[in-house]
Amino acid sequence: MTSLVQLANHVWLYPRDDDPNRVQPNVGVIITGRQTVLVDAGNSPRVARRILLALDERRAPPVSTVIYTHSHWDHVFGAQVYGAATIGHDLCRRQLVELAGKPWSQAYLQEELQRTPAREAGLRAMSRAIEDWRGFRIITPEITLTRILRLHLDGITVEIEHVGGQHAPDSVIVRLPEARVMFVSDCYYPPPPPQRRPSDTLDWDMIERLAGEEMDLFVDGHGLPRTRDEFRRLAVERES
Ligand SMILES: [Zn+2]
Repeated sequence: MTSLVQLANHVWLYPRDDDPNRVQPNVGVIITGRQTVLVDAGNSPRVARRILLALDERRAPPVSTVIYTHSHWDHVFGAQVYGAATIGHDLCRRQLVELAGKPWSQAYLQEELQRTPAREAGLRAMSRAIEDWRGFRIITPEITLTRILRLHLDGITVEIEHVGGQHAPDSVIVRLPEARVMFVSDCYYPPPPPQRRPSDTLDWDMIERLAGEEMDLFVDGHGLPRTRDEFRRLAVERES
């Protein structure tokens, strides 16, 4: 069983699966006196149920809110398990409303694979993550933002800010000013594999902009948490 890892006061991480074929990203966990807020949902109901077990182990209060960092499936498809409010960018909502209308099933994944062979790796990971599509539901964000939204939860500030970028135009970052932790998710990554060209790189400007903030830890979607120096060093490659 995977346990939560503490990052700072009130801030935890349900760590990613480091098997890249699983495509199971980091899930941020903010535990206040009365509620738990998640940054992303896990890639499937199965992972979401494991996250609930890890929360139980810590005796965390119920999950009140799930913040979607962007609309990619691996960050969203576990949401139905929590019965919580969901927050995302306007564009994230638009994209998920469209995805929610698809006839999700193994047969549908097969059709998608024939239509868009470039999506093979993602579709295979999706099919591994969700073995049974009966009862599967995409939860579209109930609360949306266009630029910035602040939550004030039992004395803890959670700032959600739209940054967009080449990976997903709906990307938001989640900043915890008191804990000095920032969840940056995939916002500085290259475009997702089906749209990626060999010349694509990390988004150096995005890294430099975010690393300019006085945070101690930067947590991306699929890697280990980084100190500010480690995060900034990602952009040093740019010169080479
Ligand atoms: Zn992504």
